[in-house]
Amino acid sequence: MISTTVAGSLPKPSWLAKPEQLWAAWKLEGDALIEGQQDAALAWLKTQEAAGIDTVTDGEQFRNHFVHGFLQSIIGIDWELMTTMGIRDNRYDAQVPTVTEAVRRNGSVHGAAAKFCRDNTDRELRFTLPGPMTICDTIADTHYGSRPEMAMAFADLLNEEARELEALGVDVIQFDEPAFNAFMGDVNEWGVDALHRAIDGLSCKTAVHICYGYGIKANIDWKNSLGTEWTQYADFFPVLNTSRIDQVSLECANSRVPMSLIALLKDKEVLVGAIDVATNEIETPEKVAATLREATEFVDPERLIASTNCGMAPLPRHVAEAKLVALAQGAALLRKELG
Ligand code: ZN
Repeated sequence: MISTTVAGSLPKPSWLAKPEQLWAAWKLEGDALIEGQQDAALAWLKTQEAAGIDTVTDGEQFRNHFVHGFLQSIIGIDWELMTTMGIRDNRYDAQVPTVTEAVRRNGSVHGAAAKFCRDNTDRELRFTLPGPMTICDTIADTHYGSRPEMAMAFADLLNEEARELEALGVDVIQFDEPAFNAFMGDVNEWGVDALHRAIDGLSCKTAVHICYGYGIKANIDWKNSLGTEWTQYADFFPVLNTSRIDQVSLECANSRVPMSLIALLKDKEVLVGAIDVATNEIETPEKVAATLREATEFVDPERLIASTNCGMAPLPRHVAEAKLVALAQGAALLRKELG
């Protein structure tokens, strides 16, 4: 009851990449980079274990961008042909590569990272991949000419990758879909279909993470424009609830998402974000417990998983470490209270 996990990234150590910066370039290269990534992942696995996190992650130490980290080795993408594109419905501009021919994998993308983590922890292991819709919203296209069609092509590649990760012992495969609350209609039309294609044949747990983004300025400004109640989720939770995805990960700490929307996910496990990733202020265990307690009005404790709102990559390392401890302690407080 009320287990704990982390929704996404964790900060890179300062010797691996510039701290407190999203998508910072690596400070190492070649074999030294691989060794550095492994050391960083190992440090985070042990930090999560010591904090009392039940389902641990690599903290995305092996990639510097949650979408491009997967795309880098995919054939059919031209990284010389960079395009400036308004992403998340033009919330901000990003430099993105271009799909110029049919996409296919050039072997495993994250298999070595997953195997390293599996070999170094006995805890349940969660691994994140970008969702098909979010990939399509983070890349330019001169080949497919249709987002749903391109999404299905990427979903096939994600499925190949996910099957490998499952075989390596990953317990939960999570697809990050921050694009879902920018394109609510598309989620119902083809977003969930694409996710279904990505999880086809898997028997491990599957999850989708939807959020209002990292605590960067463009996202904070956007959130400030959304009014006092964020109800975007209501448009597609009914479809998500009938989907074959097991878990839905949401932003609930200091968020204006009405907690009552969780009631629309009555057949899912819900990752309740109880850690705000847009502030360095460290939650008290009592505050974490209060957020989780509020959620229990709408989700049974058996289906409630305590988590972070989103990734913590842009935070100082010591802040992220302290937030993990607060998360585990807050969940423990509520477990005790509920007996
Ligand atoms: Zn997120």
